[in-house]
Amino acid sequence: MKKRKRQQQKVNWIAGLIFLVALGIFYSVQEQRFIRQSLVYDIISGNTMGTVYEVKLSYSGITEAGLAELEKAVADVLDEVEGRMSIYISDSEISRFNQAPAGEPFAVSDSLLFVVKQSLRLAEITQGAFDPTVAPLVNLWGFGRDGRRDSAPSDDAIDAAMALVGWDKLTIENGSSLVKAVDGLELDLGAVAKGYAVDRVVELLRSRRIQDFMVEIGGDIYVSGLNSAEDLWRIGIDVPEIAAVPGQRLRGIVNVTDMAIATSGGYRNYIKGSEGRAYSHIIDPQTGRASPAPRASITVVAETCLVADALATALYVLGEDRGIELIESIDGAEALFIVMEGEDRVRDAASSGFHERTSYIRVR
Ligand code: AMP
Ligand code: MG
Repeated sequence: MKKRKRQQQKVNWIAGLIFLVALGIFYSVQEQRFIRQSLVYDIISGNTMGTVYEVKLSYSGITEAGLAELEKAVADVLDEVEGRMSIYISDSEISRFNQAPAGEPFAVSDSLLFVVKQSLRLAEITQGAFDPTVAPLVNLWGFGRDGRRDSAPSDDAIDAAMALVGWDKLTIENGSSLVKAVDGLELDLGAVAKGYAVDRVVELLRSRRIQDFMVEIGGDIYVSGLNSAEDLWRIGIDVPEIAAVPGQRLRGIVNVTDMAIATSGGYRNYIKGSEGRAYSHIIDPQTGRASPAPRASITVVAETCLVADALATALYVLGEDRGIELIESIDGAEALFIVMEGEDRVRDAASSGFHERTSYIRVR
């Protein structure tokens, strides 16, 4: 009897020990998870192209010196893109092309050539809703380097500017030069340059074998791998109300990875005409008129940020019905329209694959 009792006590004792060890392992795993989840990101940030940029790295394992070196490499890439594609820098490559006369081949860098080629392709796909030669109209409507205006321009002025606009008036010669068909034709890459710059930073990070990151330039984003909670990246989409402060009142959250995401809207950058109408900074190149500034936004996901950026602008011009029709015809791109109706009613409409590609969650 005594022997059996002793054996039983031994079994209990071993079981207790096993339980305690298991408990210890459980808590240490939980603690590890907690430590990983609460890991802060390595962050690189600064200003470029009139806006802010941020690069977030999770699990980079990067040293302080490595991060400082990467910070410099990112800034160099962004400086290069801005120095080639900004119309606000008077001796940028694009500004020099804009001043060049018609008929003369203007040799350009590989990066500008790439963006122009992509832009001409996107102009064709969007049937000119996105048009990289829209600059004279952007200036006329007061959204370019000539400064703001407080009324719509005259029909004559619009016609005169339209004569200088058209992506079919720009050709690429010998694979390395741009030629304009009319004097006064100008490039404005404001609708794609930020997206392109995001893609360039992504390329840089990948070349350093960095897998888990988010790159953002003024709302144009690329996300890769996992965030620091070992999950998809979460991107907030604002309610498109006038003077919305980014991130303050979200309509929804897009959960996504290994994809680019860009949003266009007329609710932040617009002019109020004397006749009481609001005009957005996005111009319809077919009519020469600034699109109305409804309280609406268009978010596009695509494989590259250049494409997402250009399509978001094009879909703003096209509006909901034509925009959704276009995006359905493009492989690898999806769109979400968010529209304010009345004071506080928000509605959204997505292309057929948007929810599959992103798992979008509404918060309001
Ligand atoms: P985003 O913020 O990407 O929608 O780009 C808007 C900017 O692109 C404007 O500020 C203009 O410089 C330029 N833009 C306006 N309308 C168009 C258009 N239809 N096609 C291409 N670029 C445009
Ligand atoms: Mg754009």
